Amino acid sequence: MRPVLETFGNAGISEVITYGLIINFGIYFCSLGLYSALNYFPGKERLGEQQPVLRSDVILSLVTVFCNTLVFVFGVFLWKRGFIVLSEGQSVFRIVLEVVFLTLLMDLLMYVFHRSVHFTTYFRKLHQRHHEHESTNLLSLFVLHPVESIGFGLMMLGVLVFFPLSATGISIYLVINSLWGTVGHLNHTVLPQSWLKIARKGCLCTSEFHYLHHQHPGCNFGFYTSIWDRVFKTNYSSLQENNN
Ligand SMILES: [Zn+2]
Ligand SMILES: [Zn+2]
Repeated sequence: MRPVLETFGNAGISEVITYGLIINFGIYFCSLGLYSALNYFPGKERLGEQQPVLRSDVILSLVTVFCNTLVFVFGVFLWKRGFIVLSEGQSVFRIVLEVVFLTLLMDLLMYVFHRSVHFTTYFRKLHQRHHEHESTNLLSLFVLHPVESIGFGLMMLGVLVFFPLSATGISIYLVINSLWGTVGHLNHTVLPQSWLKIARKGCLCTSEFHYLHHQHPGCNFGFYTSIWDRVFKTNYSSLQENNN
């Protein structure tokens, strides 16, 4: 990771923008490729019909990639100015701890952010574009209002300002984020039922969990785990129990 950081450290603004575009378009096309590949996964159980891909989805998904690039450039700026400190040469154990810590902290912040968005009139209107996808397609993860994309990015940069983590730990977290986002927007299950039961018991969000959020926007606000939905009784099953 050290050579990569040296490259970013020596790069001018136009080079940082270019690297940001390469990384974010790389994430975008990897997500699209993984989504398409998982569509052919054997033994899948369909959750609903595929959301049609509109031209406006393609345009908005590309806007999201540019917003994420802006956040990346701002993150490099904060790092160069010493507001974000990155540590290197960490042990494997420390990196694993960093990834778990960052994932759980972001999970809590995203739950608060996502739930607030649903209950604040102005932000609900912004988030509505994502919920126009009552079912999901390969672009749903990227069909976000620019305020949401930038808001998520700034939230992560805020965490990095307060907690000095390694570039390796942050990179692994970002891979997990893309993977979870892609799998979460599938309109079918991937894992066998026995594995899904284990994932549910372990409070891990599955395709079904986020699919239910698109179908019933008043529940399942979690992104990586269902911990906070269970704690605050906003998970789908709690809501069903309350309605009965
Ligand atoms: Zn979604
Ligand atoms: Zn939502």
